[in-house]
Amino acid sequence: MKILVTGGAGFIGSAVVRLAVRRGHEVINLDALTYAACLDNVAPVADSPSYSFEQVDIRDAAAVENCIARHAPDAVLHLAAESHVDRSIDAPGVFIETNVKGTYNLLQSARALWERRGRPETFRFLHVSTDEVFGSLPADPSVKFTETTPYNPRSPYSASKASSDHLVRAWHETYGLPVLLTNCSNNYGPYHFPEKLIPVIILGALAGKPLPIYGDGSNVRDWLYVEDHADALLTVLQNGQPGRSYNIGGENERTNLELVRTLCGILDRLRPRADGRPYAGQITFVSDRPGHDARYAIDPSRIREELGWRPSVTVEEGLERTVQWYLSNEDWWRALQDRDGVGRRLGTGEAG
Ligand code: NAD
Repeated sequence: MKILVTGGAGFIGSAVVRLAVRRGHEVINLDALTYAACLDNVAPVADSPSYSFEQVDIRDAAAVENCIARHAPDAVLHLAAESHVDRSIDAPGVFIETNVKGTYNLLQSARALWERRGRPETFRFLHVSTDEVFGSLPADPSVKFTETTPYNPRSPYSASKASSDHLVRAWHETYGLPVLLTNCSNNYGPYHFPEKLIPVIILGALAGKPLPIYGDGSNVRDWLYVEDHADALLTVLQNGQPGRSYNIGGENERTNLELVRTLCGILDRLRPRADGRPYAGQITFVSDRPGHDARYAIDPSRIREELGWRPSVTVEEGLERTVQWYLSNEDWWRALQDRDGVGRRLGTGEAG
């Protein structure tokens, strides 16, 4: 399959690019290379004849149209977005431009290509979204987000993603474009940008800094290893039913405090502090983010039962692999920490 991946120089997009090339697909990576991008993330496959890169900003309708028309992909896998909740609170405008207008530009160009080719049933537009569009859950563990949970976004980031989800559904209902949607829980793993919670904790611990946790650390997130997410996206792309959405999650609910303590325990084993004291002693609580959602949890029954997808690692295995990856790839994260603005941020935000 010839797949155009948007946002393929980002955290999840690059995992998709690496996996898709390794599975024999032809991949065009379309990315504007914002502050969040790093082409080193795709270095393991960049020399493959099946891989190519296009520096395109999805806010630029003409550039998007040109790129899609030239490559004429069989599928568009759309991940490009502004993804950091804290940044959306400080400066929401670019989230509307990229996440809403950018998605509209892609839909229009994909639709034009699909119509020119005679509306092939096999064409796919897969829009990658977040569980944050559903809002916040109560503590009751029996209540989870399903595909029919009403939308209730509460941050500029989640509102912009919700808007883009509605556009994608409308292009299916109105024009018949064969779209698929996925809503995923929080990802973690190798190549996670240093301003996100898990790298902030690992790198802050190693640097002997305070490990900041919002509020009392009781907010619950449902964690998924990024390579399992990439596998789920290719599964939905190939076997999902057009017009349908799929929730993707690892069924790994943890409070932020539990997660940080687990990371500290792994570091205590793999890279003990020089003074022998536990890293958990560096934990500090900071004032909460405005509108901080209490709990997210995904019910992944549909993707499991209809498409047979399951995560391949437990959260303990995934976190151990992640810590090991950061310990072995210091050059990668040091270069990104030096980027303007990144090192100065509080950096306790969860990914979108
Ligand atoms: P990321 O911030 O790491 O990467 C985003 C990529 O998009 C970057 O490479 C960036 O350069 C590119 N991009 C941004 N604006 C662009 C523009 N205007 N034109 C072209 N490219 C642009 O994000 P991520 O964490 O990899 O998330 C990818 C997608 O998955 C997003 O749509 C996000 O909403 C969704 N998602 C993320 C998570 C998570 O936990 N990270 C969970 C669920 C869904």
